[in-house]
Amino acid sequence: MHTIRRMNFETLAIHAGQPPDPAYGAVMTPIYQTSTYAQKKMGEAAYDYARTANPTRTALQDCIAALEGGKHGLAFASGMAAIDCVLRLLKPGDHVLASNDVYGGTYRIFKRVYEDYGVQASFVEMSDLDAVRAAIQPNTRMIWIETPTNPLLKVADIAAIARLRDGVSRPVQIVVDNTFASPYLQKPLRLGADIVVHSATKYLGGHSDVVNGLIILNDDATFARLKFLQNAVGAVPGPFDCFLVLRGIKTLHVRMERHSANAMKIATWLQGHPKVAQVIYPGLPSHPQHEIAKRQMCAFGGMISFIVKGGPEEARRVAEGTKLFALAESLGGVESLIEVPAAMTHMSVANSPLEVNPALIRLSVGIEHADDLIADLKQALG
Ligand SMILES: *Cc1c(COP(=O)(O)O)cnc(C)c1O
Repeated sequence: MHTIRRMNFETLAIHAGQPPDPAYGAVMTPIYQTSTYAQKKMGEAAYDYARTANPTRTALQDCIAALEGGKHGLAFASGMAAIDCVLRLLKPGDHVLASNDVYGGTYRIFKRVYEDYGVQASFVEMSDLDAVRAAIQPNTRMIWIETPTNPLLKVADIAAIARLRDGVSRPVQIVVDNTFASPYLQKPLRLGADIVVHSATKYLGGHSDVVNGLIILNDDATFARLKFLQNAVGAVPGPFDCFLVLRGIKTLHVRMERHSANAMKIATWLQGHPKVAQVIYPGLPSHPQHEIAKRQMCAFGGMISFIVKGGPEEARRVAEGTKLFALAESLGGVESLIEVPAAMTHMSVANSPLEVNPALIRLSVGIEHADDLIADLKQALG
């Protein structure tokens, strides 16, 4: 592990946590489809029960830790299960300060689950440092950052928020949901974050065939608590799901390069289209946080949002009119998807401060040929 850990991202994606299997030398990490393990002597076994640990899951945990440049990784049955585990670090009376544009499920777990247990959440424009500073309360224990956000693709300056936190006398953990960027584009721990979470369902899995979540961190004591919770609460992923995410990760760097290149071409093309009012993509110089994105990401990812001039009816017509882009929720797969967040993924934030413009269309740009994708959008907008 240690010699591998010093290698480059592309090598880590393929090898970290995955030496040939010690039993028979299998080059691919086997799917250890077992619930329990025979013990040679009582209590003397590397593994005892599969909720606690499973070798396929261990490989995934070690691999993602290496990719994020962290010491520890933990895998869960879904992104929400990973987020839930991090929130269990909080106690009644604690406060979380979150991006005002968080994933709908994250908003929901804050407002409709954790508030019932006495954990408060409030939401702030995370790209405005003065607003963040002013919103930190005496009981704030966590700052919850998504960057880029969904679906407005706002970019928060992770390093600047971490510095701001360093000026607070009380312990405040910085958590980054790195789902949209993936560790290939952005490494929050290196920018000063304490905990990274992922919905591995998206880019890490990359093939729209698995639901999975991950946590990565450096601090040993916090890791011990989270590992205890992973076993005590039990929202663990099955070994087959861990295998699928491991396999997806092997091509993460290649896919993210193509997602980003395709998205850049499409965003630039959309900007010149007469029926498009606004294109939101962190790679465009017109994006309000383009300079921050350039500094903290090595490319700008595969997500684009755009607003059509014709309003909600036109947005629906375009989203239903594409032939290659599938009308679907989710994101991050090799195939391109299109959706209207206000009517689909973001219905749960209607009439809240997170409400999304109903004429906004979100694209998850896949790794097909960019010209075919542009031709499809052209006919749908046509
Ligand atoms: C999808 C998503 C989640 C939730 O992950 P699941 O795997 O669906 O539970 C959390 N955060 C972001 C940014 C997401 O896109």
